[in-house]
Amino acid sequence: MSAIAPISFIPTCRAEMTARGWQELDVLFISGDAYVDHPAFGVPLLARWLEAHGYRVAIIAQPDWNNPEPLKALGRPRLCACVGAGAMDSMVNHYTAAKKVRNDDAYTPGGRAGLRPDRATIAYTGLVKRAFKGLPVIIGGIEASLRRLAHYDYWDNKVRRSILVDSKADLLIYGMAENVLLEVVQRLDSGECVKGISDLRGTACQVSAIEKDIERVPSFEQVAADPMAYNEAFRLAQKQNTPSMAKTLAQGHAKRFVVVNPPAPTLTAEEIDRIYALPFRREPHPSYTETIPAYEQIRWSITTHRGCYGGCSFCAIAAHQGKDVVSRSSGSILKEIQALTHTSHFRGTISDLGGPTANMYGTGCGDPAARRKCKRPSCLWPEICPHLETSDRRGSRLLRQARTTDGVKHVFVASGLRTDLLERQQAYFSELILHHTGGLLKVAPETTVNTVARIMHKPGPESFLKFLRWFWKENKQLGRKRGVVPYLIAGHPGCTISDMVDVALFLREHRLRVEQVQEFTPTPGSLATCIYHTGRHPMTDDPIHVPRDPEERQLQKALLLYHQPQMRNLVRKALQRCHRMEETGKLLGQGIKPPKTDNKLGASDRNATKHPRRTRKKPGRH
Ligand code: SF4
Repeated sequence: MSAIAPISFIPTCRAEMTARGWQELDVLFISGDAYVDHPAFGVPLLARWLEAHGYRVAIIAQPDWNNPEPLKALGRPRLCACVGAGAMDSMVNHYTAAKKVRNDDAYTPGGRAGLRPDRATIAYTGLVKRAFKGLPVIIGGIEASLRRLAHYDYWDNKVRRSILVDSKADLLIYGMAENVLLEVVQRLDSGECVKGISDLRGTACQVSAIEKDIERVPSFEQVAADPMAYNEAFRLAQKQNTPSMAKTLAQGHAKRFVVVNPPAPTLTAEEIDRIYALPFRREPHPSYTETIPAYEQIRWSITTHRGCYGGCSFCAIAAHQGKDVVSRSSGSILKEIQALTHTSHFRGTISDLGGPTANMYGTGCGDPAARRKCKRPSCLWPEICPHLETSDRRGSRLLRQARTTDGVKHVFVASGLRTDLLERQQAYFSELILHHTGGLLKVAPETTVNTVARIMHKPGPESFLKFLRWFWKENKQLGRKRGVVPYLIAGHPGCTISDMVDVALFLREHRLRVEQVQEFTPTPGSLATCIYHTGRHPMTDDPIHVPRDPEERQLQKALLLYHQPQMRNLVRKALQRCHRMEETGKLLGQGIKPPKTDNKLGASDRNATKHPRRTRKKPGRH
């Protein structure tokens, strides 16, 4: 890798290209996020990676998708354009779980909404094709990655074609793209046609004919018409998340096929260290005059690892980052922390030292032979695999090293934690409680009902209770007064109103209070989204209750917040709807009015949600 000076931003216009002495680009990146030169932002990271390998790259961030002129102003790139919708799927970015338009966008200067289109990958690919006819377009990032085969789209409420077909891009890279993109660019550079790149791991492409031995998944036309065919396609696609079962898949779309090659090999720790050692400026491009909320959030945070072996069914991290956890070396992380301490605005606080699940740092499968044959989607569920190496030696040492680095005053762990894992990590837990949490430890059991936990692939209430007892005991022994805030999901497939009443009773019994409720959103690629669409579990074909009705979802949310005065009417309605009025006293205390008898929300319920003070009453006791 050639050394580059720790320097200028990646060019974003002709003048910045000229300043580097470039007449022509090799690769043009289009990003749905603002350009922040920081490793937490995917497009800048890939641009720096190609730059480090000697390629001339530029980034156009959040372009007007109806105007190709700014792209043309940079000239036609020699090799290709790469399109990424941003750190989030553009539909998740634009709409709430209730499909309401969001009025902000954390990845945009000033947090303003509206600077990227719906289905940004499709819109930007069209923009590149208008600017540079015939130029190969490579799509990637989470939006492209999780929509690589025909998929249920919550916002259209229908099955959509593979995003490769809808965007007309030439190649799709899924998962962690560094090495795959580099190989694509090198092959294009050596004169290979993009149409010839049909066999590369970690990519998907369109072809008109397939070999006999390629595994066929039900076609788009079949999965769009038949939920059982959709489940079958999902079962086959899921295998690609498990290295030992991954195969090349082909899915018919009219007369053509979308071919998805097996995933690329997981990056090694050394490779990830090299990526994080690239010369990032760690700040937004100077052309921005407003702050970028997502940057403010990650500005002082450090990523310790990639991947997650939890396998929660509502989460698609494993489908994108992989099931294998790859941890950076402590040397690489500490170097990044030291560099941070030399930046001008750093005040001594690392806001987060973590990854997809903070306490997975330094852990992973301890038996390569078992891993090669492993068919489990999760190393933690239904029980912790005996081959999983859960030692907290590296994690706890890293916390100590980080907080004793010169110039560092505080290090927080704000990323999520797996409590079932934490119970085996006494040293890490002690470090956490003594030095790295504020007053409250945020944990995510997601539910406290066994049947729902099974569908979510989460440990059940017994495990959470065991954790709570252990937490209080340790807390006491360590002389700390830390609390626990549970994160729970409303409206998850399999969860009924009656289940949520049980969750509320559990919270009350154990004096826990929810701060925020996450409403389940069926995002592409997850097992829970498949169940949401088909109403059946794809692994067993068993029917599953799916709370699609907006009122039911609202009642589930209200139950989690039963302690809030403005939720009282909704809680009564929920209890009535599941015929559990006998629990009213436990959840709402005395002096209860009879619930409404109609099935629709009354005006008073809606007003109660919007104007909490109008109905302010003493909350039920905890
Ligand atoms: S720890 Fe167990 S479940 Fe996880 S990869 Fe290894 S063998 Fe598979």
